[in-house]
Amino acid sequence: MITINENYLKLQASYLFSDIARRVERFQQKNPEINVIKLGIGDVTKGLPPAAIRAFHKAVDEMAADETFHGYGPEQGYQFLREAIAQNDFQKRGANITADEIFISDGAKCDSGNIQELFARDIIVAIPDPVYPVYLDTNVMAGRTGIFEDGRYGKIVYLDSTKENNFVPSPPKEAVDLIYLCFPNNPTGSTITSKGLQQWVNFAKENKAVILFDAAYEGFINDSTLPHSIFEIEGAREVAIEFRSFSKTAGFTGTRCAFTVVPKECMAWDRTGNSHFLHSLWNRRQGTKFNGVSYPVQRAAEAIYSEEGQAQCRELVAFYRKNAKAILAVMQELGFSCFGGINAPYIWIDGKMDSWDFFDLLLNKAGVVCTPGAGFGRCGKGYIRISSFNSHENIEEAMQRIKKALG
Ligand code: PLP
Repeated sequence: MITINENYLKLQASYLFSDIARRVERFQQKNPEINVIKLGIGDVTKGLPPAAIRAFHKAVDEMAADETFHGYGPEQGYQFLREAIAQNDFQKRGANITADEIFISDGAKCDSGNIQELFARDIIVAIPDPVYPVYLDTNVMAGRTGIFEDGRYGKIVYLDSTKENNFVPSPPKEAVDLIYLCFPNNPTGSTITSKGLQQWVNFAKENKAVILFDAAYEGFINDSTLPHSIFEIEGAREVAIEFRSFSKTAGFTGTRCAFTVVPKECMAWDRTGNSHFLHSLWNRRQGTKFNGVSYPVQRAAEAIYSEEGQAQCRELVAFYRKNAKAILAVMQELGFSCFGGINAPYIWIDGKMDSWDFFDLLLNKAGVVCTPGAGFGRCGKGYIRISSFNSHENIEEAMQRIKKALG
């Protein structure tokens, strides 16, 4: 008899966004005349930067002729893109990362979900609360947690991110082995300073731990004093892996391209105490289970690093930032404590009530969809997340409706 991986049974019955979709569908059936504005899921709405589109088209044409056709590419990504990333995203900012430490992939979701395969099942994992659900669920699937009780899985060390710590948790008192951090943060929109990140790097070194740093929203950093990469921090090369994505900064959510940085010094140990480089393990993993990102997509991503591409990405980010500013202005005017939205596309709002009740209130009274904070963890109870990824017109309309409903 074939048996299942019973860890899957520990997962919470429905994924946050399917719960939301069900409620929205019910509302829409009862109110078909209302144009529901969705500020929930963090998907971008604007077209790709013209520089990327041009490179994309050109590469598609290359695929048509035998002489310029590309079949399987390197599993780690084409050198032209890895070089462009190393120079522009890291070396220019003083982070010593080389092209062969960069692994191109089809998403930071897959990479941040798959990376835990490299580690033993009995390690202690520290995960922020609230959190992007992928980190937690993939560790549940792998059997690193106990059952779900009172809003939390057993065996996980939760890093509370609250108003009191500005949604930036400090290293825990106990030793942990694997640490997930995400800055700028989804869902709270918080950022971490170099000093704050240095504390984590020091903690990881002292504990022989590894930090998984998700910088998918790096492009939204506006404050020039903030680090864009964990590799701007001294000592991070030995203890950190970083995830980046073209999804939010270049509008690639439907195009799919991202990358993971695994420095050559970063290591973990086997049971007998021998050290192993994670770069070799990840390389082996990708070589076995991944066949690379399509050539035209990698050419489109490369074009993001041209002068023109960079300017167009800045414009994209500025577009969403203007939305974030408009959301912040109205929610603050209505008297809510708001966080994020300055160096991040998300606004985290203390609704002063249960977050699903606040979700229902905005849906039923204003026809606006947000994301209830409780879906991101116990510390998210009482908060909602509003996303700035939409048109100016929709944001304007949504905020007018919210003002009318709650004002
Ligand atoms: N990491 C975080 C924190 C995210 O919020 C998201 C998407 O919402 C991702 C990763 C996924 O990125 P990608 O589109 O590259 O899979």
